[in-house]
Amino acid sequence: MLRKQKIEKKKKNKKPVVGFYAITGCQGCLLSVLFNEDKLFDLTKLIDIKAFPFIKQLEGAKEFDVVFMEGLVAKKNDLKELKEIRAKTKVLVAIGACACTGGIPAFRNFMKEDNYKHLVYHKAMHLTDMKPTPIDKYVKVDYYLPGCPPDKNEILTFIKDFVLGKKPEIYKKPVCFDCRKEGNPCLLDSGKLCLGPITRGNCGAVCPSGGLECWGCRGPTDDANIKTMMSLLEKKGFDVSHIKKRMKSFVGLKLAKKGIDTYEQEY
Ligand code: SF4
Ligand code: SF4
Ligand code: SF4
Repeated sequence: MLRKQKIEKKKKNKKPVVGFYAITGCQGCLLSVLFNEDKLFDLTKLIDIKAFPFIKQLEGAKEFDVVFMEGLVAKKNDLKELKEIRAKTKVLVAIGACACTGGIPAFRNFMKEDNYKHLVYHKAMHLTDMKPTPIDKYVKVDYYLPGCPPDKNEILTFIKDFVLGKKPEIYKKPVCFDCRKEGNPCLLDSGKLCLGPITRGNCGAVCPSGGLECWGCRGPTDDANIKTMMSLLEKKGFDVSHIKKRMKSFVGLKLAKKGIDTYEQEY
């Protein structure tokens, strides 16, 4: 049966109950969902959206078939909310770099408190009461949609696959693959520190296509050889601490876990 016919058939059946939630983050991931503006109406024919921070009450359903969770655990309330939501959903999807790998907020783990505490508003000091950590440290995560923000088309494809009962596929090729398809000149050749070779693609190489380096927001590919990449970049003349800092930006905790970098607070 054609994919379109299958989708039509599913529309007639009971629609999966879906929720979108956000803990500590910037809500940019949820905006990526909304940026599918031309397809959102079709989406609501396939799924029953019961919770969405900008649109619907968050207490929208007793049970969910799938919840998309943005953000990471950085304060006690995050953890409480995360556990409550996990308990009432069959499938939990980590959406965005913060939820998947810790992203930018997790960079605090590599900083000395004295160097950042003056930046935190006094009223928001509770934000520092836990180490910022991706959500799979605390609850089971069934799928990961990486990126800062995640790609809007990837979100849509995931939902359609889910509705069809098809196991969503994980894109395995690096950003360089997409970049070459776009016909871009390589930024490494012009002395720019691009992490495309070790970063999971499917973002359309949006940064290098705009002349900007890939910072690795989608996390490393399964077969990324980080150590080799580090020494290649070093041989190309990049400063080691610059390379480390760049690599830590989105996936520092993941690298530390693999023993690739130390967990020391450097900045
Ligand atoms: S992954 Fe990026 S866009 Fe999403 S919440 Fe975190 S900082 Fe915002
Ligand atoms: S610019 Fe970056 S992503 Fe593109 S080919 Fe070069 S290293 Fe790869
Ligand atoms: S090019 Fe790199 S930094 Fe830019 S969106 Fe893609 S993975 Fe993220």
